Amino acid sequence: MEVKSNRYDIPKRDGSVWPEDICPAYTSREDAIPSIQGCWYCKYADFHLKEERALEVGICNWPKIIIE
Ligand code: SF4
Repeated sequence: MEVKSNRYDIPKRDGSVWPEDICPAYTSREDAIPSIQGCWYCKYADFHLKEERALEVGICNWPKIIIE
């Protein structure tokens, strides 16, 4: 199966991001697993994690923190 992951040179501000995508501004949220990195675990990503259904594709809100 094709793995959808991209490495961006800069944050994908206001753009859609896959859970395994990453950029140099990656900052892990507090409950992230240290060995795993990616937009899914990034403070700046909005995957609707606090809502009933998380999104498959999130939005990068850098530099606005979405989840600590
Ligand atoms: S969500 Fe985080 S790691 Fe992903 S592009 Fe935005 S700033 Fe970078």
